[in-house]
Amino acid sequence: MNFTEGFESVSVNKVCKHYGNLKALNNVDLKVEAGEFMSLLGPSGSGKTTLLSILGGFIRVSSGSIFFGERDVTLMPPHKREIGVVFQNYALFPHMTVGENVAFPLRARGESASKSRDRVKSALATVELSGYEDRNIAALSGGQRQRVALARAIVFEPKLILMDEPLSALDKQLREIMQIELRALHKRLGATMIYVTHDQREALTMSDRIAIMRGGELVQVDTPRRLHDHPANDFVASFIGESTLVPLQRGADNGLTLGATALRTTRPIPPSGDVFLALQSEKLLLDNDSCGPEWNRLRGRVSDIVFQGESLKVFVDLEGGPTVSLRQPSHHEGNLSLPPIGSPMMMRLHPEDTIVVPRAGV
Ligand code: ADP
Ligand code: MG
Repeated sequence: MNFTEGFESVSVNKVCKHYGNLKALNNVDLKVEAGEFMSLLGPSGSGKTTLLSILGGFIRVSSGSIFFGERDVTLMPPHKREIGVVFQNYALFPHMTVGENVAFPLRARGESASKSRDRVKSALATVELSGYEDRNIAALSGGQRQRVALARAIVFEPKLILMDEPLSALDKQLREIMQIELRALHKRLGATMIYVTHDQREALTMSDRIAIMRGGELVQVDTPRRLHDHPANDFVASFIGESTLVPLQRGADNGLTLGATALRTTRPIPPSGDVFLALQSEKLLLDNDSCGPEWNRLRGRVSDIVFQGESLKVFVDLEGGPTVSLRQPSHHEGNLSLPPIGSPMMMRLHPEDTIVVPRAGV
């Protein structure tokens, strides 16, 4: 059995979903552990909502199966799945109070009024809206409404909660607050959560693991740190973190070069095919030591310096290559060490931070 304290694992087995000729999902295999916070991350159209809707029972697979724990739920209707759902467009009922909205799933399950009252109270406390029972939905802020939607999803204590971009309508500040709240809520409830987003930062902030999707397929499923430090290919590298992909050349001795610069890396190099250097902004360092070694030294010309509050983003046109960016602290010393726009600049990349990735298959 795969239950941890009654919470549910989820297995997606070779799931395909076709719309005519379009493969919205192509042979997706995914195992979500009981109690895990898993995000589905990918660009628009990559199949995230389709997969979540299949888990919710709102659409049918073309082939393949879905298990919750040991139960085959592939053909089970949504209301029998005992899951909490928060969709971006899964609107609250505007004519009902907060309490009536949250009580809705309980009433649909035929629970008594007195038991419902206690549960609603406790769900509202969980999302820090104690005492809001009698308020009108219209009188709430965006963040409060989102929390009411959450309370409604957790009120019957589901073992599995599905969320599809639940924060995308909120402004940046509120979104960041809610991300931390959702993280805390997950720890408190311990329920298995599957969360759809196209925002990599959001996924990194909240998830135990992230499943990267592209064109209806899973590209890589890993912890945030592993995805960031060990991207499987150029697609993942471009999607996670702030990185530029620079095509590399293979030398005769199978060493890698970027223009005239020999690259050293402590990491594995794909044995064949096109390879790219995934240059993450925070890993690229200023190099003012002209006597240092030539390997892993990148030369370019500063094309722009952008003040972004806590840091400066410096754009550099690489010699014979694309424009890359690096981050420099915006404090006094950080400013002083930067050459002005238009000047040549040398940068260094640590061999540990020299990430080489293959091209993703098409
Ligand atoms: P995401 O949520 O990652 O943006 P979706 O799962 O919504 O992606 O869509 C995946 C693909 O399936 C897209 O190409 C989309 O246009 C297509 N699609 C989704 N729903 C339908 C449908 N009901 N009919 C036809 N095509 C659909
Ligand atoms: Mg979607």
